[in-house]
Amino acid sequence: CGIVGYVGPQSALDVVTAGLKRLEYRGYDSAGVAVPADGGLATAKKAGKLVNLEKELADRPLPAGTTGIGHTRWATHGGPTDANAHPHIDNAGRVAVVHNGIIENFAALRAELAERGHDLVSETDTEVVAHLLAEEYSACADLAEAMRLVCRRLEGAFTLVAVHADEPDVVVGARRNSPLVVGVGDGETFLASDVAAFIAHTRDAIELGQDQVVELRRDAVTVTDFDGSPADVREYHVDWDASA
Ligand code: GLU
Repeated sequence: CGIVGYVGPQSALDVVTAGLKRLEYRGYDSAGVAVPADGGLATAKKAGKLVNLEKELADRPLPAGTTGIGHTRWATHGGPTDANAHPHIDNAGRVAVVHNGIIENFAALRAELAERGHDLVSETDTEVVAHLLAEEYSACADLAEAMRLVCRRLEGAFTLVAVHADEPDVVVGARRNSPLVVGVGDGETFLASDVAAFIAHTRDAIELGQDQVVELRRDAVTVTDFDGSPADVREYHVDWDASA
């Protein structure tokens, strides 16, 4: 439902949870975050309101990191439980993904992954993406390329945003029939399903086009199509008043 990603000098958890709060008006049933830090990947997720996630983060603090992703979920496949909340991770716990929309061919992909020995632990359509990203990453060691390869196999409407423990300064996003906007700050970059999530930090934005993948670093935003060809980006300035 709501997606936020951040790469920069600030505490990623602070930026991401504040961004998720700005998206609360859309409604949701669960929330979660992932932060690549200290060579690993830390996640927290809880059913219910953001206050439940905040309590979890207070009880079990995550390591500090300056790259992170967050999600508020509106369940379509699998009930609103902690296990079904996003982010979803692969079995090695190296890659985390959040998702808006529906992966229509998830059942076939689940069966295929189970046959290859993957252990899927949620009832969501989303979880297959974490496992597919892990497989592709182990071959190409490039999260943006892994995302392009996975997207070519997905059917349906989706916004996907992922982080990997081996690329702790990178957030990768993709979209098909579901919105995703980049925020370009000074030495920091943002990714969100709605500009409201990052408008407190920057008003310079790039709207991703249909079937595009974006790689965010502190000082770089790279957009391609699902085949890896560079895409034209349309930068604009958000001038409406979002303080309300
Ligand atoms: N289909 C996914 C799920 O049920 C994503 C739902 C959403 O857009 O929040 O977990």
